[in-house]
Amino acid sequence: MSEFDVDLFVIGAGSGGTRAARIASGHGARVMIAEEDRIGGTCVIRGCVPKKLFVYASRFTEDFEDAAGFGWSVGKPTFDWPTLRDAVANEVTRLSGLYRKGLEAAGVSIREERAVVEGPHEVRLQKSGDLIRARHILVATGGWPAFDPPIPGGELGISSNEVFHLPSLPSRMLVVGGGYIALEFACVFARLGVAVTLLHRGDNVLRGFDEDIRTRLRDALSHAGLSLRLGCTVDRIEDLGGGVKRAHCASGAPIDAEVILVATGRRPHTAGLGLEQAGVKLGPIGQVIVDRESASSVPSIHAVGDVTNRINLTPVAIREGHAFADTTFGGKPWRMEHGLVASAVFTTPEIGTVGLSEQQAIAAGHELRIFESGFRPMKATISGRQERIYMKLVVDAKTDKVLGVHILGHDAGEIIQAVAIAVTMGATKADFDATIALHPSAAEELVTMRTARAG
Ligand code: NDP
Repeated sequence: MSEFDVDLFVIGAGSGGTRAARIASGHGARVMIAEEDRIGGTCVIRGCVPKKLFVYASRFTEDFEDAAGFGWSVGKPTFDWPTLRDAVANEVTRLSGLYRKGLEAAGVSIREERAVVEGPHEVRLQKSGDLIRARHILVATGGWPAFDPPIPGGELGISSNEVFHLPSLPSRMLVVGGGYIALEFACVFARLGVAVTLLHRGDNVLRGFDEDIRTRLRDALSHAGLSLRLGCTVDRIEDLGGGVKRAHCASGAPIDAEVILVATGRRPHTAGLGLEQAGVKLGPIGQVIVDRESASSVPSIHAVGDVTNRINLTPVAIREGHAFADTTFGGKPWRMEHGLVASAVFTTPEIGTVGLSEQQAIAAGHELRIFESGFRPMKATISGRQERIYMKLVVDAKTDKVLGVHILGHDAGEIIQAVAIAVTMGATKADFDATIALHPSAAEELVTMRTARAG
């Protein structure tokens, strides 16, 4: 009899953990996975999937308005929050069921309870008390919303976990933060008819993105009726009673709303997991420190996804999990390359980006040629909407290689996914130029920019 009960014990049935479990099982490993919440993890249950469905819902606002310019008469549209909320919840339940089926079909044993590491090869299941001896342990517990450092009254706010289940649509909402989650939800709720104010401590949103994209997004958000309070650090939240809360900023007047969404970042979900006691080194925000093979400081314990705080995106977690499983159980060693990862921010207007920003490219010592284009989309000429699309190519002047592509506007996410193939293959500006434009489209601008920005 084997000294181990399973070859792989996965903690966390989100995107990364589920992929690793299924692939490892396919390679013949005996796999058990534990999940203390719902199967599917952040992306499926309280992240990308329900968020994107909310984004779709929010954009109908513009469709109704734009239709008039094209000859349609649309009565005054009304929106019913419970219908959307419940439809999205049902879809999440369906997808969670598919995740479960996928695991079962792959022969993975599912334990729906919290699991805690008790040693390099031991995991304790908290509800049943079972101790499982595993040849390998994979930590894939993801991240969790953080308000760090906590502020007085912070508990009066909600996080992105709760925003999907609001009992009713508030008339006023404050969103604290200026990152992906804050901006996406601010845009969604503003379009659903909520008076949204974004409170952000910085002087611009989306730190780390290309400056031209940041500035244009900020301006577009203001034009879309979203109220922005920049340079505003919320230092206290107060309950005024009657369902109204008040946020106090270090500077400026306090501001009231029924709902305060706190989106000030996420932290790796490692508290109480027993990792440090087992010898696993954690970083300053609790992330599992891993090498390029996703191995922790304990050779039998690996970690993938947001819990490692590398690039906190679903497809990255999936790749990391897949690479781990192929390498450890399939005799096919490979690793996830973290260099070039496209991402989108599903604000309206949307951002799509891959590669280096202009500022990052300069900091890395590249001499640059910058190509950019800002234009009114064809649809807006008739709808009358004041809307612009912006595209930027960051090109290495010496090698002609396209180092980064940044898009702000309709379908930016869809466009950037396709462009990312070319950029990943090392495309040059000459390759972009040699590509025949597809007309009429917005994306054709990417292959028709001829003149580099002066200076
Ligand atoms: P982000 O790191 O993107 O943003 C956090 C924001 O909160 C920043 O604006 C930050 O400001 C601010 N902040 C941090 N601490 C404080 C504080 N104590 N007081 C006030 N403001 C504070 O985190 P998110 O939670 O938005 O998203 C987490 C991650 O999830 C993202 O990094 C991304 O990887 C992923 N994600 C991806 C999505 C996508 O692909 N579309 C969608 C949603 C999430 P400052 O800039 O000054 O630090």
